[in-house]
Amino acid sequence: MNDLFLKIIKGEIPSEKIYEDDKTYAFLDINPNNPGHTLVIPKESSRNIFDIKEEDWQALMETVRKLAPSIKEAMQADGINIHMNNEPAAFQEVFHTHIHIIPRFKDDGFKPFGGTPYKEGEEKRVGEKIRSIIAP
Ligand code: 5GP
Repeated sequence: MNDLFLKIIKGEIPSEKIYEDDKTYAFLDINPNNPGHTLVIPKESSRNIFDIKEEDWQALMETVRKLAPSIKEAMQADGINIHMNNEPAAFQEVFHTHIHIIPRFKDDGFKPFGGTPYKEGEEKRVGEKIRSIIAP
């Protein structure tokens, strides 16, 4: 199966890893809506909310709950959006279950689609900052 995010978990495609445990993996979105935009995924493949196993969903939600405060603090954000797209009609583009954690800032002019890629070196700096707060 051509599962892009499975390749990221396996390290076949590089990613700026934020966190990993036995059931979940989190990394920076390559095209963030705001800096620090993180994707949290289950290690076991599923397409989306409609077929994920209960235990994988629970682990995913627990990782989102753990990471959101650290991402907010690292980015000095005013708030966080937790977002999920399920099926193409709802703008899902990658068919491995994922949750978006998106830092928000007052009056940030947020647009839900079409993020902006990081500048040279910025993705690594953002990743280091978030990781330093998760595991100081
Ligand atoms: P969806 O629309 O399916 O909810 O979102 C998929 C997300 O995956 C998009 O925000 C997109 O920027 C991100 N993405 C797609 N390919 C890659 C990749 O190779 N690496 C990373 N880090 N993010 C990706």
